[in-house]
Amino acid sequence: MKNRIFNFNAGPAALPLAVLEEVREDLISYKGEGLSVMEMSHRSKTFDSIIKEAEELAKEVYSIPDGYRTIFMQGGATLQFAAVPLNLLGDNQGADYINTGAWSKKAIAEAEKLEKTVNVIASSEDQNFNYIPSSFSVNSDAAYLHITSNNTIFGTQWTNYPDAGSVPLVADMSSDIGCRPFDISKFGLIYAGAQKNMGPSGVTFVIIRDDLMEKSPVNIPTMTSYKLIGGKDSLYNTPPTFGIYILKLVLQWVKSGGGLAKLGETNQTKANMIYDILDGGEFYKATVGKESRSIMNVTFRLPSEDLEKEFIAKALEEGMIGLKGHRSVGGCRASIYNAVPMEAIKSLTEFMKEFEKSNG
Ligand SMILES: *Cc1c(COP(=O)(O)O)cnc(C)c1O
Repeated sequence: MKNRIFNFNAGPAALPLAVLEEVREDLISYKGEGLSVMEMSHRSKTFDSIIKEAEELAKEVYSIPDGYRTIFMQGGATLQFAAVPLNLLGDNQGADYINTGAWSKKAIAEAEKLEKTVNVIASSEDQNFNYIPSSFSVNSDAAYLHITSNNTIFGTQWTNYPDAGSVPLVADMSSDIGCRPFDISKFGLIYAGAQKNMGPSGVTFVIIRDDLMEKSPVNIPTMTSYKLIGGKDSLYNTPPTFGIYILKLVLQWVKSGGGLAKLGETNQTKANMIYDILDGGEFYKATVGKESRSIMNVTFRLPSEDLEKEFIAKALEEGMIGLKGHRSVGGCRASIYNAVPMEAIKSLTEFMKEFEKSNG
């Protein structure tokens, strides 16, 4: 495919080419029905089987245990920042948060805006979020402990999730859900905006333990209520139908590629290829220490901002987009989500070596 470029965008991000091709195939007339998925009723038999299949695939591919439900919501991960405290945090309780970067901060700020009691029990802000805190103690009476499993902007990622005891662990997994096998039974609730590792923007995927879904108070906005939206099988109102359809295809793609175990190995290899270059000389510098590095967002610096600019511009000329670091931190970032193919990593690492040779 000559008109495709290697996509290192942080989000919305790369989708598997095979998925896009299937979407194209069925775009005008889905399975010969004479209309597209975008144009059909969300109450139709056809869409009903699409959404059910998406849920079944998620259950299978992510190994979601019994006792959990999946919900497709809207409003992005950002609405979840409010939905989590609205649903799970009563007036006479507090919730624990670990602050590992910009997204954690936003989650905390949103809970505070709702006048909820928030305890930040650990933070890596002292070192500009370049590590994952390892010592903290969870308040045993907290309504939940909230973490951001992968810090998209700062390039850090939890590998061993905290043990919160009987306190439900809540994770924003927007940028690393399904990047490798993960044990859902450790969590009370997981949410993810789909646009990084699951599909297009507009869908938010939620995995919630049954008992927590029952907690939603009646006086919260309908669109934030796990009980209302989940209780109607994500069909309370019109869901983001086309996004759910693509998300289903992405899950199918993961399954047919060998599932999360295979994907996790490939993702680790992909990340190592880049980190090896960062660690192999003086020209590039990883911004994160080895023990906290993300296998999804690799952040790095060059010797000067001018060189970084040139690096990003030259890479684009060579057919690689999205290597600019987040505007709040600068530098460079390669987002290498599930759908970013090995060829993209090969192209990037070759380019990095060449660029160092001519500028180092
Ligand atoms: C991108 C991102 C968000 C924001 O998601 P929206 O769907 O745009 O609201 C939140 N958390 C993390 C970890 C992210 O990477």
